Amino acid sequence: MVDIEIRPVGGYSDFGRNMTCVRVGREAVILDMGIRLDRILLDEENVLDEMHPADLQKLGAIPDDTVLKDLGAKVVAIVIGHAHLDHVGAVSKLAGHFPDAPIYGTPYTIRFIENQTTEFQKGGKKRRLIPNRLVETETGRIVNLTKGIRLELVHVTHSIVQSAFPVLHTDAGAIVYAADYKFDNAPVIGKRPDYRRLSSLANEGVAALIVESTNAGKETKTPSETIARDMLKDFLFGVENDRAGIVVTTFSSHIARLQSICEFADEMGRTPLLLGRSMDKYTSIARDLNLIDLPSNVEIAGHSRATQGILKRIAKDRDQYVLIGTGHQGEPGSFLPRLASGEFPFEIQKHDEVIFSANTIPHPQNVANRYVLETKLKMRGARIIKGAHVSGHASKVDHQELLRMLEPSHIFPMHGGIDLQSEFVELATGEGYRLNESAHILRNGDRHRLGGRV
Ligand SMILES: [Zn+2]
Repeated sequence: MVDIEIRPVGGYSDFGRNMTCVRVGREAVILDMGIRLDRILLDEENVLDEMHPADLQKLGAIPDDTVLKDLGAKVVAIVIGHAHLDHVGAVSKLAGHFPDAPIYGTPYTIRFIENQTTEFQKGGKKRRLIPNRLVETETGRIVNLTKGIRLELVHVTHSIVQSAFPVLHTDAGAIVYAADYKFDNAPVIGKRPDYRRLSSLANEGVAALIVESTNAGKETKTPSETIARDMLKDFLFGVENDRAGIVVTTFSSHIARLQSICEFADEMGRTPLLLGRSMDKYTSIARDLNLIDLPSNVEIAGHSRATQGILKRIAKDRDQYVLIGTGHQGEPGSFLPRLASGEFPFEIQKHDEVIFSANTIPHPQNVANRYVLETKLKMRGARIIKGAHVSGHASKVDHQELLRMLEPSHIFPMHGGIDLQSEFVELATGEGYRLNESAHILRNGDRHRLGGRV
């Protein structure tokens, strides 16, 4: 039987910059190429677009693919599970190291990569930053990568549209890559996860499950996106805000959330305004693929100058609009912190409502930035409403369900350091797995050859 080796490259000793290589005999597949932006933001001199991969690796911002020097196999494909930056953000920097490997993903993910890896030069001429072929792959279809490896993307739910588990079918069984996901039985956009397919994988035999461990320690089942939608509705309609300005901040990549906010703005008789470059980027791909249904009067401003123009025009009729932008972590330079600092011709006034439709990622930098942001907003008299959010990551009960569906022989938790990986191993122990025998904690740069079946 063909021998299989799991090679964690990034995201096993840290958060973000996810990348795993799976060697199947003399061939290999790379799963995800993510970035951790906090490492770049530490220094104002850093400009991501201009930075060399080696410098980004030194910063710990992108995966260090030099650990694959001794791989002894040809990389035949790069597969990206979903379009979050911690899974896709390093493609423009690293995919070129494997020029013959096509990049596979769902249509939304591939369009996003296309956008990230195309540069517009003077005169509108396009330049590709990577030589790799991009292959839009529908979920449920099986693609022959080589004679010995077949790829399938299985539809799941997460906080971005068209998320999938890449599954590698090999002679030694299936390798399932479950990062990231939640089991949402009432998603706002798209279908429920493909439970039937996940369960049938167990019949084929799942040799290894590589799985995110973000919320593995949370003793619950992650609530559906519908819950966040209901909270938003309650917050928007439930308070005396007829004459107030309303600002909602959320993730620009969270298409379902943006859909809900825009719909409610419309129901309130207000025009939704999507403000900022990333809002424009993520929503326009979703619109191209008919994944989002925005009210016809929606206005989208991609550039700072366009945002300035719209806000100047509407400042007097503030009660006719809902402003939607990024900056919920207080990131300097993003929309909400700039608005709070008075950088736009739209001043936050007494009783204006600022709704945070996001959690605070508990990084000391975010905590400090959020403090500054909230203080500035409060000083201007804004009413702050937090908590209109549910996580996009599976909790303990979801993971238990996944293990029961797939019955994998070996488990490799990723996404976070040893603390989070251990929480996953702990829950797996309850399902009959044993540390170092069938549940493995790996660090970036390790190599693990799959043993026999458990
Ligand atoms: Zn994600």
